[in-house]
Amino acid sequence: MTTYLNADLHCHSVVSDGTLTPEALAARAKANGVELWSLTDHDEISGQHRAAAAAAAQGLAYLTGTEISVTFAGTTVHIVGLGFDPDNAPLARGLAATRGGRSERAQEMAAQLAQVGIPGAYEGALQFVGNPELISRTHFARFLVETRVCKDTSEVFRRFLTEGKPGFVPHRWAALGDAVRWITEAGGMAVMAHPARYRLSTNEEFALFSEFKEHGGQGVEVVTGSHSAAEFVTYGAMAQEFGLAASRGSDFHSPDESHTDLGALPLLSGALTPVWEKLAERVRPAP
Ligand code: AMP
Ligand code: MN
Ligand code: MN
Ligand code: MN
Repeated sequence: MTTYLNADLHCHSVVSDGTLTPEALAARAKANGVELWSLTDHDEISGQHRAAAAAAAQGLAYLTGTEISVTFAGTTVHIVGLGFDPDNAPLARGLAATRGGRSERAQEMAAQLAQVGIPGAYEGALQFVGNPELISRTHFARFLVETRVCKDTSEVFRRFLTEGKPGFVPHRWAALGDAVRWITEAGGMAVMAHPARYRLSTNEEFALFSEFKEHGGQGVEVVTGSHSAAEFVTYGAMAQEFGLAASRGSDFHSPDESHTDLGALPLLSGALTPVWEKLAERVRPAP
């Protein structure tokens, strides 16, 4: 497989905060020309067997995936895992521990929203939840759009649910070293998700890349729905500087919310080593 592959290695289903089932995502990926796919639900791998079966049914090559929430330097960063054993027990336990506390956090978020005149947000958000262990800010955002408090999710994240705004409850996620270790010890590759999204100083970003590498991280998302064209170039250079393989993924959540559809991204630059080259043995080929 070459760099010039329509690989989409980042998206979400109803198992976390997406609105489509793994089967509907596989069909959409196929229709959009994706050749290699991965479903990367937040802190969850319970959709992996369904996703692999749906990929096979569509004639798509598949890599197992997840996206782990990590707390680093006081901010949340996301680490994607690709190509691990979906039945690995320590990985499943680590993810379960990372998911823990989401319900309590959600109750506190709702209490804050009630204080600014928005009652019933916990119950409202729950109506959008596909997995009771995974209530997230995205589900609150859907509630705030449905009740016309905001016109779309980007307005929600400007006015609510982010640092300094009503409905923001800081949370302690997994440690960077733990997340990387769970993935690699399950036979997979740890890939830093959408690095341009983090509000880190240049020094903190350097520390993040260095520590990620020291812990055994091997890849970084370069072409993602979360990056601008200029950031494709910046983080392509970072991949080369740190000796990391490059990944590509839309981060698709929903036909109504996501501006980047499955498979609809520029290809990786030929100067980069794609993650799928290093994961060739872990790819489940299209039947
Ligand atoms: P949580 O894991 O509960 O903190 O929720 C994080 C999720 O919220 C992310 O995975 C995104 O799906 C969504 N999100 C966070 N910030 C934004 C934003 N600015 N615009 C749209 N979605 C966002
Ligand atoms: Mn999400
Ligand atoms: Mn993310
Ligand atoms: Mn994501």
